Amino acid sequence: MKKVYTCIICPNGCEIEAEIEGTYVLSVKGHTCDKGETYVRQELTAPMRTIATSVRVEGGELPLASVRLTAPVPKEMIFPVMEQIKKLSLKAPVEAGTVILKGVCGLASDVVVTKHIKEFKHI
Ligand code: SF4
Repeated sequence: MKKVYTCIICPNGCEIEAEIEGTYVLSVKGHTCDKGETYVRQELTAPMRTIATSVRVEGGELPLASVRLTAPVPKEMIFPVMEQIKKLSLKAPVEAGTVILKGVCGLASDVVVTKHIKEFKHI
């Protein structure tokens, strides 16, 4: 059976046509590098995704700080992980690189801040 995937590993977004049988990949074409073939195999057996979103910040110059996961998580865990992230709230100042939730949902991935938010100061 033929199936077409769009590789999400890099911004090139190669369209990869795969000939598959069950969870076996018989052949792939359309990928520009080896990561594309690895991506298709992973999608067939255990698809993984990452998350980039934001978290509320109290008392900051901006109301939200961008965050991301340090490692991809199983696709079926995206909603439980998002539920945990939604519960988070930070107090300014917030340093980029700060881990705000370690091992989210018991997975080997942390939630880390990617933007520095200064404390709001009245002049
Ligand atoms: S196959 Fe390689 S070049 Fe193409 S999107 Fe995937 S990682 Fe990027």
